[in-house]
Amino acid sequence: MKTIEIKPYRLKNPIQNYSWGTKNNQAFIPRLLGFIPEKDKPYAELWMGAHPKAPSSIELESGSMNLQEFINANPEKILGKEVAKRFSNKLPFLFKVLSAAEALSIQAHPNKKQAELLHKKDPVNYPDDNHKPEIAIALDNLYALIGFRPFPEIQSVFENFPELKSFIGTKFFEQLVNEFQETKNERSALKKLYEKLSHIVSFKKNDFDTAIKLMRIKINAHKDVPDLREKLFLDLNDKYGSDIGLISLYLLNLVELKKGQGIFLNAGIPHAYLEGNIIECMANSDNVVRAGLTPKFQDSETLLKIMEYKSGIPEIFESAIDTDEYIYGVPVPEFQIKFLSGKPNESKKHIIKSVQILILIEGALNLITEKSSIKISTGSSLLIPASLKKYEIHFEKFSEIFIAYVAI
Ligand SMILES: [Zn+2]
Repeated sequence: MKTIEIKPYRLKNPIQNYSWGTKNNQAFIPRLLGFIPEKDKPYAELWMGAHPKAPSSIELESGSMNLQEFINANPEKILGKEVAKRFSNKLPFLFKVLSAAEALSIQAHPNKKQAELLHKKDPVNYPDDNHKPEIAIALDNLYALIGFRPFPEIQSVFENFPELKSFIGTKFFEQLVNEFQETKNERSALKKLYEKLSHIVSFKKNDFDTAIKLMRIKINAHKDVPDLREKLFLDLNDKYGSDIGLISLYLLNLVELKKGQGIFLNAGIPHAYLEGNIIECMANSDNVVRAGLTPKFQDSETLLKIMEYKSGIPEIFESAIDTDEYIYGVPVPEFQIKFLSGKPNESKKHIIKSVQILILIEGALNLITEKSSIKISTGSSLLIPASLKKYEIHFEKFSEIFIAYVAI
């Protein structure tokens, strides 16, 4: 194989046009990248990585080359010796910009072992044998549903919507409440409740339609402005009809993240992003187990098996925006995320031990190495090979950068 030049390379990244992406003058990804969005086309995700479904590419004098082929040509120099060995010559993470105008499907991701089994059984719907822990960092206000609410909160939802209680079975529900009060075993209560709900939604379709209709009438009868959950209930009911996701809206925590705050989602945590622009990073995988609010493949049986029935919101990383350097320390070996900001004429030196992918969210800078210098502006992203060992950033304007890398 021809030896490659070791220097930072500009990445050309594929865009996923999923239907929930932002459009027209709301379209965030086109604005970031500096192009005019096509009329009414949704721009949902920008993928920076080497996932076989949509790998990034780099420009060489001989033409463009997909990132995995480029890595294959010299894995140790690009990924770094340790990463190449540990992850079998593959880039272990997938870095994304995600822009949601409306709710994404309610989902959870399998752990490594579950992913291997799912992939073996159903490679069409589970394309990877890898787990998909992920971090989401808000670029503006992000609304999301994450993790189960504490059981007493869920209990009041059913008290406020008696139609929901009678749908799931008044006797069943009261037994569950008694059991919870006696044992305080929240995991068991959440599991029994969600399993029962999931089963009867499919085999008592007419009763479910009626319960949703009654909930809708009640929400509409409010005199005051609907709150965010109610507004979502109405919108999503218009879009998907009677859908178990409408109930999940009330079973999961509604979380608002401010710019720079991040949240790490390990395997099994139910979640759905509702609205906002984020930086996302995950282990290199596209395995999603969906149940609700989606026209895509749903697999509630699998979801029931892989879901963590634990209440509460995972720890939120504080906003990095007021600092000039911040590491979102995630508890997985595949990736870490660093935020950097700098003022005009400021310089920063960096030592690197693994491959990095960097994206400039705002600003302009010069990235200088021993033998090269590359100028980038807002929306540009770079692949920085591990064997460069060090580089210096010279900021030309106020700049904000996110860097994905592997901790060695
Ligand atoms: Zn997810």
